[in-house]
Amino acid sequence: MKTAVVTGSTSGIGLAIATAFAGTGANVVINGLGGAAEVEEITHRLSGLGGGKVVYHPADMTRPAEIADLIATAAAEFGSVDILVNNAGIQHVEKIEDFPVEKWDQIIAINLSSSFHTIRAAIPAMKAKGWGRIINVASAHGLVASPFKSAYVAAKHGIMGLTKAVALEVADQGITVNAICPGYVLTPLVEKQIPDTARARGITEAQVKSDVMLKFQPTKEFVSVEEVAETAIFLAGDAARSITGTHISIDGGWTAQ
Ligand code: NAD
Repeated sequence: MKTAVVTGSTSGIGLAIATAFAGTGANVVINGLGGAAEVEEITHRLSGLGGGKVVYHPADMTRPAEIADLIATAAAEFGSVDILVNNAGIQHVEKIEDFPVEKWDQIIAINLSSSFHTIRAAIPAMKAKGWGRIINVASAHGLVASPFKSAYVAAKHGIMGLTKAVALEVADQGITVNAICPGYVLTPLVEKQIPDTARARGITEAQVKSDVMLKFQPTKEFVSVEEVAETAIFLAGDAARSITGTHISIDGGWTAQ
């Protein structure tokens, strides 16, 4: 039985990925912000999906010691961490000269450095086992940029570099390291931006979706969290054993332009 750790899995894409892994019968360690009742509901619901055990760890992805404890706790509970999904992420939209320094630091910590901390903690046991899967949820913004998202775009481009470097280091040890690059997915992270963007641009919320968010997504549809989750399941499987150091885009054609 495999064990998967999914950071930032109390909401959105991470929750869908954790749900999908629980459905395969894996043990799953969920993580992320959330009240006790919400976390309890998710843990209980996911526990019923497969044969694996589902536990929660509250590590804050800005705190390296807590991140190390997340991986150590998962390994102690289940004997190994076979699949590591680095998904936790936040966004802040502001022009560079007004971008708060503390927001920059927080985004680099959560969206980039946390993956360095989870990976360095998880790799030794994967090497010992000769098998491992590391999946980094990057973004179309790991490949191309948009204005007013300097920290996010910098962090996501950084995670693409980390993905490739680590993939090369462990390529001959049965461990693959890849990124998934979604376009716009309608999760709380994106929904929170809609009213602010509508106000800032003096347009309706519907226009924000069609004219701003989906402007560069040729399918004109949001990507679903389930599509991202199914791609993670594929990358974690044996059929994907030769796929490493690369990314899979799920962006409706955005980065083909
Ligand atoms: P979301 O807001 O729904 O979920 C983010 C998760 O990260 C939540 O579980 C939250 O609790 C957790 N989190 C935030 N700060 C944390 C911290 N300090 N410590 C631990 N956990 C923390 O967002 P989402 O859209 O599901 O985003 C998930 C990932 O997908 C992010 O890395 C995001 O950049 C990426 N992504 C999202 C989209 C999109 O359009 N939604 C597109 C491309 C990439």
